[in-house]
Amino acid sequence: MASIGFAGVSKTFDDGTTAVDALDLEIRDGEFMVLVGPSGSGKSTALRMLAGLEENTAGTIRIGDRVVDEVQPKDRDIAMVFQSYALYPHMTVAENLGFALRMKGVAKAEIARRVDVAAEKLGITALLERRPKALSGGQRQRVALGRAIVRDPAAFLMDEPLSNLDAKLRVEMRAYLARLHQELGTTTVYVTHDQTEAMTMGDRVAVMRDGRLAQCGAPQAIYDDPADLFVAGFMGSPAMNLLRARIEGDAVVIGDQRLALTEAVRRARPGLAAYDGRDVVVGIRPESVAQSPNGPVAGRTLELDVVLTEALGSDLLVHADVGAPVVLTADQEELAGEVVPEVLSRVTLRLPPGARVRAGERVRAIVDPDRLHFFDADTERAIR
Ligand code: ADP
Repeated sequence: MASIGFAGVSKTFDDGTTAVDALDLEIRDGEFMVLVGPSGSGKSTALRMLAGLEENTAGTIRIGDRVVDEVQPKDRDIAMVFQSYALYPHMTVAENLGFALRMKGVAKAEIARRVDVAAEKLGITALLERRPKALSGGQRQRVALGRAIVRDPAAFLMDEPLSNLDAKLRVEMRAYLARLHQELGTTTVYVTHDQTEAMTMGDRVAVMRDGRLAQCGAPQAIYDDPADLFVAGFMGSPAMNLLRARIEGDAVVIGDQRLALTEAVRRARPGLAAYDGRDVVVGIRPESVAQSPNGPVAGRTLELDVVLTEALGSDLLVHADVGAPVVLTADQEELAGEVVPEVLSRVTLRLPPGARVRAGERVRAIVDPDRLHFFDADTERAIR
């Protein structure tokens, strides 16, 4: 096992594309670190540099106490698991598991022992004599993991290993991988574009954007306190609602509605004092509002026109017009393409399934001021 360090690591490809830009990241011994970010943010390139499959053009990469920049991939003591698990079709599961050890010249008895141990950990002992084509997708993925485990490396590197599996199996495999990591305790770097995987699997999460590290921390810490608009919009589903607003004394004004900035809120975010009379972006998570059972609560109510509801069984998603401009992060803008104007003032609320809310009606949403997020409208950094 080993810690891993990226210090000022960059990758500029021959065509001039900078895929990773001055990445500083320390991964602790035994940690499960998820690199997450939209497509093209540099996650795979960072992982491939760690594996030695791409050369870094600046900075140093360390595995344990060894700088590995000049070390061949096979000598880095890491095992990589990819999304396409490419098992050898003509070999049995046992032979697939033992292949890398055989190539290294490990003695037959030792290979058999390690294959048995790994197979038992993965629950595939009964499959050892089968060939890959007689396995389900989930079983093949376990064999692919097994090939990494038998080598007992200093670290596992995983690049979207679950993205070829169907939704149900993916959820199972997530839990399974997390359990396996607990048991083995091997340092793991896991790349995904899926923020749910990042939230549920990582000890810590490194959020990447445009080749840079946007924020690194425990999943809940990032969710509760995103460092900027990009992270706020990226982590969480449905995404945080981000609205143009204005600070006016002890209120934040959203369209023609006012929410009170209580003493407690202002104490918790001393940075807000500098924003009196200025535009900000206010962030409201879909789940941090409740429907008012009675009338409005002074300073804590937003009145919204319901456009559409979606009953998910567990929740009722309510899409409603708030009468104030919505801010899209750069990536959301890209996704939205040509945005229809009315979508620009639409927010999403997550209410209990029994909430009586219908399209065309007005809903009174009680907002907990402690759970509002504030961002500088220009720098996009969180105001804390
Ligand atoms: P991610 O894994 O987050 O989707 P990548 O690391 O694959 O991102 O890619 C980051 C950026 O580097 C993208 O703009 C991609 O097009 C570019 N890129 C990746 N590989 C190469 C390459 N071999 N040559 C040139 N550009 C590349």
